[in-house]
Amino acid sequence: MSEIKSDRSMVDRIIACISKSEGIDWNEARQMLHKYVCEGKCNWYKTKSKAAGFDRTDLTEKKREDIEKLVRQVMKGCDIEYAKWRIHNILCPGHPRPSPSKDRR
Ligand SMILES: [Zn+2]
Repeated sequence: MSEIKSDRSMVDRIIACISKSEGIDWNEARQMLHKYVCEGKCNWYKTKSKAAGFDRTDLTEKKREDIEKLVRQVMKGCDIEYAKWRIHNILCPGHPRPSPSKDRR
């Protein structure tokens, strides 16, 4: 439970940074981060994203790099694929994308 709690606070920190650097509100920043981690693998994306007007492909390569840099900064020492998976668990609970590896560390 405590790991979930600290993951959430890291995700909150990443969202706050994105919202500040992009000059967008919290919800937009959250959606941008979701676009970055989602990769279209989760059930929510496959079934609900169209209705929500969520198009993960409209995230530019530049923004993707910016977000990745931020994720690496906040989640120090964490494998980037594993970090994305953990962030996705927070942003899209109940619709896990496949785990990056069998051992969850
Ligand atoms: Zn998702």
